[in-house]
Amino acid sequence: MTIFRAALTETGAHAHRPTAPAAALAIDELVVQYRQRSQWQTAVSDVSLALDPGDYLGVVGESGCGKSTLIHALLGLLPANARVSAGAVRIDGHDVVGLRDKEFRPLRWNTVAVVLQSGMNALNPLLTLRAQFRDLFKAHGLARRDADRRCEELLTRVRVPADRADAYAHQLSGGMRQRACIALALALDPKLLILDEPTTALDVVVQREIFDLIDELKAERGFAVLLVSHDLALVLERASRVAVMYAGRIVELAPGDALEGSVKHPYAAGLLAAFPRLGQRSRAAEIIPGAPPRLGSFPAGCAFHPRCVNRQERCSLEEPPLEQRGAVQLACFYPVGAEAAGAEAAGGEEDA
Ligand code: ATP
Ligand code: MG
Repeated sequence: MTIFRAALTETGAHAHRPTAPAAALAIDELVVQYRQRSQWQTAVSDVSLALDPGDYLGVVGESGCGKSTLIHALLGLLPANARVSAGAVRIDGHDVVGLRDKEFRPLRWNTVAVVLQSGMNALNPLLTLRAQFRDLFKAHGLARRDADRRCEELLTRVRVPADRADAYAHQLSGGMRQRACIALALALDPKLLILDEPTTALDVVVQREIFDLIDELKAERGFAVLLVSHDLALVLERASRVAVMYAGRIVELAPGDALEGSVKHPYAAGLLAAFPRLGQRSRAAEIIPGAPPRLGSFPAGCAFHPRCVNRQERCSLEEPPLEQRGAVQLACFYPVGAEAAGAEAAGGEEDA
């Protein structure tokens, strides 16, 4: 809580500082649950994050750690068997938790927009690109002629030839579909762009092109980016801050360079080893052993402890709180690099 309050004060999102711009995104102790066999199970636990206008934050973690659940909660897209059971989310100053679809609609696209993993799923297969842009612009009051002009400008900007405006999704390559999705997402100049594994289905060269394009557009338009991925190395190349999630919690939140220089959480270290950067040799032997826990059967104490090379008895008994340590927020009793000073890391630093 303290950490988030500090972030809010920095970003000026408090009501008594009306001259400062609202945070692009402010998440305060968010808890999201799914109902399974008539029991509510927690998939996202006490997540707090703040993005200033123009920030670039990455969220990483293995499959099932709660990344998509988190962003679906931000976007009002949770399925019927899910609920936000605690916490708050503000996007550009708007409280969005509990909004009905009709109430959320005015914020979609022009305040927050999303690009999902597969452009094939995000685009309507029955409509041409032009028709989809027309629908979007019509809903926001733009005349058809202006909509067509904007559509062609936007497609050209994302390097989809304007004559592809009359194509259907299946007539485009995977990379082109994702670029078209980015053009749609940016059509109404959102303050926050959310990307959920936007290039997973694409080859490495196209992946790089897409991220370069996002960087260019971000520099031009100044939107904030929340990038969700399982690939920590990729996120480190792009984002200025990275949140590492495990079993629904943030276990490390750090500026990219701090994380790259000295990753602290043993899980984050495992992720880095499992996804080597271009030019590094793959070290398959270093892939984290075991699998993430299933919903409803998270281990007691630190949820990562059964897979952790640094674990000690305390880890199975107590859940490490997320605490500020220098530039980094960390939830770990025995972080990487603290082995030499083990006793000190295990004991002392509870005064923060
Ligand atoms: P991936 O990298 O595979 O996309 P993720 O980090 O996005 O994974 P989520 O999809 O958020 O993970 O899932 C978090 C947890 O919630 C998982 O244990 C998953 O099984 C569970 N879950 C996701 N969607 C539902 C649902 N509709 N009903 C019940 N449980 C769900
Ligand atoms: Mg996901």
